[in-house]
Amino acid sequence: MIKDIINKLHSELPAAVKLAAVSKFHPFEAIEEAYAAGQKVFAESRPQELAAKVARLEEIRAERGEPSYMADIEWHFIGHLQTNKLKMVLPHVALVQSVDSLRLLEAINSWGAANGRIVGVLLEPHVAAEDTKQGFAADEIYETLGSAGRFANVRFRGIMGMATFTDDESVIRADFASLKSIFDSSRLQYPALAPDFTELSIGMSDDYPIALEYASTMVRIGSMIFGSRQY
Ligand SMILES: *Cc1c(COP(=O)(O)O)cnc(C)c1O
Repeated sequence: MIKDIINKLHSELPAAVKLAAVSKFHPFEAIEEAYAAGQKVFAESRPQELAAKVARLEEIRAERGEPSYMADIEWHFIGHLQTNKLKMVLPHVALVQSVDSLRLLEAINSWGAANGRIVGVLLEPHVAAEDTKQGFAADEIYETLGSAGRFANVRFRGIMGMATFTDDESVIRADFASLKSIFDSSRLQYPALAPDFTELSIGMSDDYPIALEYASTMVRIGSMIFGSRQY
């Protein structure tokens, strides 16, 4: 039961660690069930799907004449975001966890300036061994934070990362150690940003207990809560 797993996670996770429930590929009813158990933060990875779920919530509020239904739900975005999809996502989210390029960051900042918003972001370094071009190199993260003044409509909130998809725990540990090191160095090098730059979002269903050992402040858990996904 979704409710039981949410309760178990809420009681087991250290108090300082936030839980983002990854609801991608699951119906809105699953989100309602988790919310009823006290879960507030939900993460989605596809712009259309996020927009549809936000619209569904609006529809339910209108049908029931209950505008405050699930009023304190908080949406995060965790997927690859193309710059032509920003308007589907940014109006709804408290945090874009998956900012994986300077180009995307610049586009988010421009959107924020045009819409009078300051958008919370996590920068996503590329550490996992998979062959993908997505994600910042560590040096690019430091350079970007060094020019944070250029991004008046962005709030830099921290680092998000994924470990290599493998059964080899030593590889997972090395990846989490790299992510933690980028997070710690960022805070040390840019103390002016540090009060906002507080999140190290690492850990998913299969590896979150390990991520907690590397000082995760936010875990993103999907299949453990909602079951396996039908792609
Ligand atoms: C899907 C996804 C998750 C959740 O993965 P589970 O293994 O289902 O817990 C976490 N983070 C990101 C970036 C994802 O895309």
